Amino acid sequence: MKSEDLFKDAKNYLPGGVDSPVRAIKPYPFFALKAEGPRLFDVDGNSYLDYCLAYGPLVLGHAYPPVMETVSKQLSNGSAYGVPTENEIKLAKEVVKRVPCADMVRFVNSGTEATMSAIRLARAVTGKNKILKFEGAYHGAHDYVLVKSGSGAAGLPDSPGVPEETTKNTLLAPFNDAEAITSLVKKEKDDLAAIILEPVMGNVGCIPPKREFLEFLREITAENGIILIFDEVITGFRIAKGGAQEYFDVTPDLVTMGKILGGGFPMGAFAGKKEFMERIAPQGDVYQAGTFNGNPISITAGLETMKHLDEKFYQESETSGLKMRRGLENILEDASLNYQVAGLSSMFQIYFTQSEVWDYAQAKTADTEKFNTYFQTLLANGVFIPPSQFECCFLSQAHSPEDIQITLEAMEKGIKAAEK
Ligand code: PMP
Repeated sequence: MKSEDLFKDAKNYLPGGVDSPVRAIKPYPFFALKAEGPRLFDVDGNSYLDYCLAYGPLVLGHAYPPVMETVSKQLSNGSAYGVPTENEIKLAKEVVKRVPCADMVRFVNSGTEATMSAIRLARAVTGKNKILKFEGAYHGAHDYVLVKSGSGAAGLPDSPGVPEETTKNTLLAPFNDAEAITSLVKKEKDDLAAIILEPVMGNVGCIPPKREFLEFLREITAENGIILIFDEVITGFRIAKGGAQEYFDVTPDLVTMGKILGGGFPMGAFAGKKEFMERIAPQGDVYQAGTFNGNPISITAGLETMKHLDEKFYQESETSGLKMRRGLENILEDASLNYQVAGLSSMFQIYFTQSEVWDYAQAKTADTEKFNTYFQTLLANGVFIPPSQFECCFLSQAHSPEDIQITLEAMEKGIKAAEK
């Protein structure tokens, strides 16, 4: 069957025809057949240079042979044990070695589980209930954080089914706004357990922190007995070997991870200082558990992936990211357009707005119709990016300079089409 027919069929059995909202591309999503390196192939016979990359995990590209081989070997030895494996210790050591705030790690199955558990831990260690998140930040699909959320939830009202009793404990502030945080902390510090943030916002396009904003958050949380949680589900292992905390040299109390850590297989984790992590059961009293926690397939894939994320990888990420963003800036300049090109390392996005973008409100000034024309034109020219202005595009090691050149040519067409 072709994608269009598959989508019609899917809608009878899967709500909206998909298993995660952002995948419901209009008028219908292409259905994947296979993927290799920088490319996705669909059931209709098309192939796409992929800058969605499964929303972030695939930094080495699709079906990276060393990862596939290691996983195949592990598969023949079983897929789940319900008892510990040596590889869990190896991957935990690797995380501890790389990530400045990590002394101990708990492996879970998704970024959602990671943030849910880290928030529970922060509440337990502080004995306080409220958390503060930033407008437009996405920390997964659980109740505490589904308030003014980004990604697939961007622009939607808070979801029905999320009790007010839960979200009344979730405070909001604009990203990069030190004044707003200062006054909120002053008022709420006796109730505020944690500030959770994406150090680079990756679910409303791509918004880097302003200079010294992260340092400011580190100081104000430390002074007021508030746990600082970096949600590095996107930035972890992507922008530096130790993530954003290494890149910006600011060490949080707890970190949440996912995506890349599982090497393309389902995985999440949270980690932090020993004094906090020792509170996690069974060592401590804060409950956290999972049938598939530390799953041997994901752990093996993550462990193999880490071997390839060396200094050279991070240097090349900088180079290819820069090439992409410079290329986009040149296209805009040649067309006398004053839109924003955002990103760092292998993250990038173009905002169809003339406003600077430092927070959610500014991101929302972008013209989503223009973005949609750009997206559809890219697709027609064999380039797949996430189908929303409020997602971030990613590069992988598998994207060659020639791939980037081809992509920029398609992007020029896309930007011109959006302006018609
Ligand atoms: N935090 C961030 C920053 C994310 O980008 C995401 C997913 N895009 C999540 C948490 C949730 O992760 P998952 O989809 O694996 O539950």
